[in-house]
Amino acid sequence: MTCPVCSRAIPDDLLDCPLCLAGRSYRAVRAFQHAALREVLAGRARLIVRSVKQKRHLQMFGAMQSFCGVEFSPQHRESRIGWDPSELNRVCTRCRALVQEIAGEARCAG
Ligand SMILES: [Zn+2]
Ligand SMILES: [Zn+2]
Repeated sequence: MTCPVCSRAIPDDLLDCPLCLAGRSYRAVRAFQHAALREVLAGRARLIVRSVKQKRHLQMFGAMQSFCGVEFSPQHRESRIGWDPSELNRVCTRCRALVQEIAGEARCAG
């Protein structure tokens, strides 16, 4: 079978093209972050921070994972911060860069 979207061959044991599937779920996750971040930027919601090995990471909305890819578990202490530069400066640099990039997209998409 060939993928109707990207024309790549789909392996026999799979129902869907793995590359397109990954792209779709990535876009769906990204769109969900846009919606949630617009609430944060408007001051109606807060960012979730979890500490892992003395480092503060930002949790992706709707996922037990940080923006930079660290897996969280409920034992990782959770706190909340607003969209405040002094607070954002205290979180992991990769999380901060990603959340700022996605927030920038959210502003444009809104
Ligand atoms: Zn495809
Ligand atoms: Zn991080």
